Amino acid sequence: MNREPIRIRASSFGSLFDCPARWIAIHLEGKRSPQSGKAALGTALHAGTAVFDSERVAGQLPNVGAASDAAAEKVSKIDDETIWEPGEQVKAIDVATSLTAKYCKEESMKHQFAAVEATLDSLVIKDLGLELTGTTDRVEVIGGEYGVTDIKSGKTAVGTNGIAKTHGHAAQLGIYEIVAEESTGLQITGPAQIIGLQTNLTPDKQRIGTGLIVNAREVLLGNEQHTGLLVTASKLVHGDIDPWGNPKSMMCSEVYCPNFKQCFWRR
Ligand code: SF4
Repeated sequence: MNREPIRIRASSFGSLFDCPARWIAIHLEGKRSPQSGKAALGTALHAGTAVFDSERVAGQLPNVGAASDAAAEKVSKIDDETIWEPGEQVKAIDVATSLTAKYCKEESMKHQFAAVEATLDSLVIKDLGLELTGTTDRVEVIGGEYGVTDIKSGKTAVGTNGIAKTHGHAAQLGIYEIVAEESTGLQITGPAQIIGLQTNLTPDKQRIGTGLIVNAREVLLGNEQHTGLLVTASKLVHGDIDPWGNPKSMMCSEVYCPNFKQCFWRR
């Protein structure tokens, strides 16, 4: 059945299943929702590390200072879209600067990147009535094959064993595999990877680690036993199944959910 495709950004795919009611309010009903300071720091780290890795991929001499400055500048901006706790923004500027520099000096060179921030404007999956769009952080050569790499930051992004946490990220990494294959023309057959940036305020306690997910796409596409999440996503956004709310979501708060006051599920 062909339907008018509904657009899903790859970066929002995880939040569709975190709380479908919240996702629909924001992405289909156009209700506004600010981002947390934590999310703003993540955006800044993406910006800074991308400056460094883009120069590497272009064959230029990468500049650690320019990368750190780009991260700090991003997180210094005052805007209405970000909710900062008292004192949080100043700390975030320090973390963005020091953690970007640590990534550039200690982590980046371990990776053989083929593409940095590969953007796809549109991939329509007609039979599901979905249009995928988004940006894959990196495509890199992993074990002789191309794989996607996603950069994730946060206090728990890297365990004390030095390995990036991959649990629960297969669906989103699977979407990035589809998006990256379409945007770069490269065959993505290697495992997906997360580079975790642990956002401790003290630079010598910040940890950077990696973790792999094999066959992430299967969670989306399904197999003989399971329906893939893309089919479920299509049913949700087209109203074939009723959306539900998840009051246990980390984002279930008056600040981050535009449905909070009138939510049926939060009681
Ligand atoms: S209030 Fe909570 S349960 Fe309700 S839509 Fe928002 S995040 Fe979901």
